[in-house]
Amino acid sequence: MNIRIGNGYDVHRLAPGLPLWICGIEIPHSQGCVAHSDGDTPIHALCDAMLGALALGDIGKHFPDNSPDYKGIDSKLLLKRVAALIESEGYSLVNADITIALQSPKIAPYISDMRRCLADVLGCELSQISVKATTTERLGFVGREEGIECWASVLLCSK
Ligand code: MG
Repeated sequence: MNIRIGNGYDVHRLAPGLPLWICGIEIPHSQGCVAHSDGDTPIHALCDAMLGALALGDIGKHFPDNSPDYKGIDSKLLLKRVAALIESEGYSLVNADITIALQSPKIAPYISDMRRCLADVLGCELSQISVKATTTERLGFVGREEGIECWASVLLCSK
């Protein structure tokens, strides 16, 4: 059995009046992500981690942000396509661990829905998906509520 590790990182700017999508869940808030897609930052980091594990490039290569095909797209569809690609390469997900840095709002109440949503999209068990959240103690662009920053790590194994 071959195992492969991957990491992903993404940032989106926050602006008033936009929907805030985090791990497939719409969070009620006064600000949302500025993006070509729906701006679901942790899903973008997760896609990059999965692609990175198999050295398949990044999300921008597979879903260019200047393509009308992806304008306003639900990032869960991008994740589903990445999962299908991983599968077609003969690999499956062992686990994913995601960290979300966001000053406001508090997203702890939504974490279990987020994990459930990602597990459903990926067709895996809840126990394979970890989602963690932190503020940055009001430091930096996250602390000033100007953006959201996310990291993802994954382990894949050959089937
Ligand atoms: Mg992005």
